[in-house]
Amino acid sequence: MNASFDVVVVGGGVTGAAVGYGLAKRGVRTCLVDAVPTFSRASRANMGLIWCQSKALGCPQFVRWGFASSRAYGKLAEELRELTGIDTGYAPTGGIIPCLGEPELEQRAQFIEKLRLETEDGTYPASVLSRKELEGMLPKVPFGPEVSGGIWSNMDGYVDPLHLMFAFRKGFVKRGGTLIAGERVTEVTPAGGGYRLACGERTLECGKLVLAAGLGTRKLAAQLGADIPVFPNKSQVLLLERIPADVLPIPLLGIARTFGGTVMIGAAHENMGMDRTLTPEVLARNADWAIRVWPELARKRILRFWTGLRVWPKDAYPIYDRIPGHENAFVFAMHSAVSLAAVLERTLPDYVMGKPLPPDGSIFTLARFANGGNGFQGSAASSPHAQTPNK
Ligand SMILES: Cc1cc2nc3c(=O)[nH]c(=O)nc-3n(C[C@H](O)[C@H](O)[C@H](O)COP(=O)(O)OP(=O)(O)OC[C@H]3O[C@@H](n4cnc5c(N)ncnc54)[C@H](O)[C@@H]3O)c2cc1C
Repeated sequence: MNASFDVVVVGGGVTGAAVGYGLAKRGVRTCLVDAVPTFSRASRANMGLIWCQSKALGCPQFVRWGFASSRAYGKLAEELRELTGIDTGYAPTGGIIPCLGEPELEQRAQFIEKLRLETEDGTYPASVLSRKELEGMLPKVPFGPEVSGGIWSNMDGYVDPLHLMFAFRKGFVKRGGTLIAGERVTEVTPAGGGYRLACGERTLECGKLVLAAGLGTRKLAAQLGADIPVFPNKSQVLLLERIPADVLPIPLLGIARTFGGTVMIGAAHENMGMDRTLTPEVLARNADWAIRVWPELARKRILRFWTGLRVWPKDAYPIYDRIPGHENAFVFAMHSAVSLAAVLERTLPDYVMGKPLPPDGSIFTLARFANGGNGFQGSAASSPHAQTPNK
């Protein structure tokens, strides 16, 4: 079977589905191909936090990019609900980083002060909560004795990541897109100014190609002669029994109530290559931290645990670029794609169709890795504490 499209997007996780949806919405004849996710399943394994605060010291563009997504989320969630009937569970609740002990609170407070100094107008939407203020915001959480307070930002929130991904995909089809689910693209070849793709029994042809295949991107881009520096970053998650909505109405970084009412605990960062083994020591360390924050969690039943591999560019900042030497092939790879989904859906489709990215997004090109470069300084996933579970 042969089929021809203006654009083929490879990868139907949150990133590819957001871009595909945006393209279809703009009337572009688009095909979205998504393999059965095996190793590359971050969109199905994540915590669903829209988390923008306390990240990216040294890169104000990324800070603004995240906040832009947070601000755009309400409209996107409403649009997807109206079009698809799927409630994404979007909840602009704000978010809190709980701190254990005064030194951690102080360190976190200094971190947001530094972020504040980097802003143009000297304001940054996060503030320090004393323990009393924290208890006032979450009166039904009996915090452990070590909890000293927290960092609050009203820019954070929660979305059900599976509902979001499936709403994008359903919306994509409703807007006229062609979804090929359960097929892997195995070969990508330049052909007549565009690309030819082998995909199971099918041959797909397209004028423009988007690689948004998570950890599968590297292998596909290599066929076009490019080395995209994206690596797996492992995380292990615990899922606890349901709690009522009013107990934890605001997510804590590392402990969040899901749309369905269960509680997710996670998630440390491990650089273990493609290893997806669950390790009791890491799960126990995550659980121990959560119990120090909220001792009652020790009495909750564990329903499931799993590992997920984040899609981790070398410097932790996103990659939005053309593949070197290929005017019509694009690569989009990042962690925090759930947080960024609203800004991705707004901007990347226009970029694929020839418009420049907005200035804050336009710096995330591959040029920063040229000649063995390590990319930007700092970390887009920043928590000043490696030992604290973070995203
Ligand atoms: C445990 C964990 C917690 C996280 N928590 C958060 C959070 O709270 N907030 C947040 O913003 N982010 C979070 N993240 C990160 C977030 O999940 C990722 O940034 C996001 O899911 C990446 O989506 P993606 O579509 O780029 O990649 P993926 O989800 O990896 O999707 C890629 C898709 O491409 C497909 N594919 C691969 N190769 C091919 C091929 N050759 N042909 C066809 N299809 C192919 C795969 O099957 C897959 O479906 C978390 C990640 C993990 C692992």
